[in-house]
Amino acid sequence: MNRTELPPASSAQPSPERLTPMFVQWKEAKRQHPGTILFFRMGDFYELFFEDAQTAAPILELALTARGKGTATEAPMCGVPHFAGEGYIAKLVERGFRVAICEQVEDPKKTKGMVRREVVRVVSPGVFTDAERMHPSESITLAAVSGRGPFGVCFADLSTGALSLARARDARDLSDVLARHETRELLVAQSRAADAAAWVTSGGRPILITPLADDCFHPLHAVDRVLEMLGARSLGSFGCPEDHPALPATAAALAHLRDTQKTAPKHLDRLTVENPSESLLLDAGTRRNLEVVANMRDGSRQHTLLESLDATVTALGARALRNWLLEPLATPVAINARLDAVDALRRDPERRRSMREALGEVRDIERLLSRAALGSATPRDVSGLLGSLRALPGVKHALDGAGSVRTDELSAGLDTLDDLAIDLSAALFDEPGVQPGDGRVIRDGFDAALDESRDLARGGKRVLAEIEARERDRSGIATLKIKYNKVFGYYLEVSKSQLDKVPSDYERRQTVVGGERFVTPELRELETRILSAEEQMSERELELFGMLLCSITTRASRLRGTAAAVAEADVLACFAETAARENYCRPDVDEADRIELIEARHPVIERLLPAGAFVPNPCRLDESARIVIVTGPNMGGKSTYLRQVALLTLMAQAGSFVPARAAKIGIVDRIFCRVGASDNLAGGESTFMVEMTETANILHNATPKSLVILDEIGRGTATWDGMAIAWAVVEHLHEDSRLAPKALFATHYHELTELEGTLSRVANAHIAVREHGHDIVLLHRIEPGPSDRSYGIHVARLAGLPDRVVARAREILARLVSQHTPASLASHPPAPLQLALFGDSGPSSAEQSALQRLREIDPNALTPREALSLVFELSDTLREH
Ligand code: ATP
Repeated sequence: MNRTELPPASSAQPSPERLTPMFVQWKEAKRQHPGTILFFRMGDFYELFFEDAQTAAPILELALTARGKGTATEAPMCGVPHFAGEGYIAKLVERGFRVAICEQVEDPKKTKGMVRREVVRVVSPGVFTDAERMHPSESITLAAVSGRGPFGVCFADLSTGALSLARARDARDLSDVLARHETRELLVAQSRAADAAAWVTSGGRPILITPLADDCFHPLHAVDRVLEMLGARSLGSFGCPEDHPALPATAAALAHLRDTQKTAPKHLDRLTVENPSESLLLDAGTRRNLEVVANMRDGSRQHTLLESLDATVTALGARALRNWLLEPLATPVAINARLDAVDALRRDPERRRSMREALGEVRDIERLLSRAALGSATPRDVSGLLGSLRALPGVKHALDGAGSVRTDELSAGLDTLDDLAIDLSAALFDEPGVQPGDGRVIRDGFDAALDESRDLARGGKRVLAEIEARERDRSGIATLKIKYNKVFGYYLEVSKSQLDKVPSDYERRQTVVGGERFVTPELRELETRILSAEEQMSERELELFGMLLCSITTRASRLRGTAAAVAEADVLACFAETAARENYCRPDVDEADRIELIEARHPVIERLLPAGAFVPNPCRLDESARIVIVTGPNMGGKSTYLRQVALLTLMAQAGSFVPARAAKIGIVDRIFCRVGASDNLAGGESTFMVEMTETANILHNATPKSLVILDEIGRGTATWDGMAIAWAVVEHLHEDSRLAPKALFATHYHELTELEGTLSRVANAHIAVREHGHDIVLLHRIEPGPSDRSYGIHVARLAGLPDRVVARAREILARLVSQHTPASLASHPPAPLQLALFGDSGPSSAEQSALQRLREIDPNALTPREALSLVFELSDTLREH
């Protein structure tokens, strides 16, 4: 199952007449937030009741108890301390649940009777913003879909404030677009919720489907609603046409975020419109098969391209690197601008070092900004932002004069926000406390009212000392002291010998052995102020902290610009660092129609083998050899070779240097990669079905600018079927001029190597092997021409299959080879591809009328008898001709 579904509501709730007032509140909150697990704040705990408790207790490993046990209002419950709430909430959200957080919105001390409670936030997989629990390079994508095909899709990442719009041609494309953006949650109109299940079946992470009222997606006034929520005047400034199909979805997504966060997401104030022609498209299957950011084994980033290249030092850079790899560029100018910058930084290790050192101090500005906008930023977040701002001049300095246009642009455009840094450092303690309101966040001397209340809260030492000094002066009693006890509070103590100097306004309270104790109206007032000072201090500090957050969010767009520049600088420096460390070369990237690699290596496998053990290989795909059929023994390195060519192309277009001695890459518009057999059982598809679906996708969408990697297609079915399909696919790719992509095709069907003789742009290559009797040595070296056989049995022997089995396999193989000559296919190659259904002269009139008849019928509406008579009718029509 690829969707996350919420558990059905249980009916184990008390009837309304038996509800206590607290449960009336609880029930109302549940009613307003259906489909959520309610975290209901009671004192220092969040309590969960009824079906929420039953669902959550096993997941959170909590004991399920009951409130009002044995009474008519008995309710299953479990609870968590409020300070640990975030961790528990994160766990539920990670499992695909929505959680509504219901807080006490009145101070229980000041309230008589029940405190008021309200849901202050709803957290779900698409709107999760807890920075500490998120991997820096992870995006938290909420998607919303409008239209009925073509579709419009809006993607929003609340944790970074990114908002982008995309289009999808049909349901298949939509499914691909959703998977490509690593969608966590999908908002759909209620009436489309049933269809949505089919859109989220591309494998990978489960996607939570959240249906909203159809009205939310209504196209009427969608533009106005979006503009209002973005606080913008026109969509033109975002390069977004007013009829973009994703605008109703955008309106729905923004309204949903406002409703769930209980505040307008102010930091979502900009949107980008995706333009597929500007980037190299990698569909979800290709990303998976090439293991770009997640491996096929467990979906982690171990042994992926991302892991091999990642030398970023900031969360911003880590996220940008991931995006650059998932959406490489497709125009030589933009790619070469990146490559120039990488080249400049690679040549200057000292500059690179100082730049990375400065970058290392920069925290996740985007997410800090989002948290500030949502009011959830902590003093430590703000202090982290201040530390980041202080590091920016160092980054700017290192970029300045690095020797490329892009680094100069980044340096010139990097806003160091000195004004904000001044404001924050004036306001914030160097190491602020954890909670605003505890008196350790805003600096002494920043705000007089705060200083006073803080002083009073700390016992009012300064104010007391002032009063004491003043009273000594006024009365002339040098030994007068202000003291405190629980009975009288603050009082003035005067020794016996000085009693005659006591001013008339002193009120006597007590006589003690050495003298007398007095109070004054001022002291009494001070006492009341001291008692309320704690509260005032807390309120004032919270107020000031809120103002600080506000001064951050008012600079949102400048901060975001800075974050983008830092992210880019970090990735460029990362590419330079990796290129220097791994000995990569700069690729020549242009529009020429060829891919040429000399001594290329696989960026991931190379790192897994001992130094120097990886055997470099060449590749040439051009007009004369457009499709290369690679044969060779199992374990020879065919898959590695194919992926290596695709990965180097992808890396070059992302702006990275590549593991090769030299590389010439003609821009590619899409990479399609179908590697090995993989099941999507969760999506209800078998191995072979997945294989064929992906192959069909390639045959429908490849262009002459695409790169196609096909590794053993047809393997998932019977040999003859598989080979027939593989054969037909190669022919089709070669012959259909609308497709004609560059392609690498690895296969164990040796018969396919015959195609080199019949198809002009097909060439063979094989992985070399050295034989010693029954043993073989895998050389991992690619050479021109076909391999003479598969060596499957040799490899089986290497793998340790028992000798008897190996010997018997050889016997059977010899018999099979003598009985069947599948190569005979090559001597009777299938008819050329136009596979004329009709003669060269085109269909005759009889044929045309038969065709017309066929077009008109609806096969579903025919009875078997009608179908049979139709066959006779058509056959007669054609025979008459
Ligand atoms: P099969 O036909 O069984 O799928 P294959 O020919 O596709 O096998 P790969 O899976 O690509 O073979 O490679 C098998 C192993 O060989 C790799 O895991 C790697 O360890 C090693 N290998 C592949 N290519 C090279 C190379 N160029 N240099 C060194 N070792 C290599």
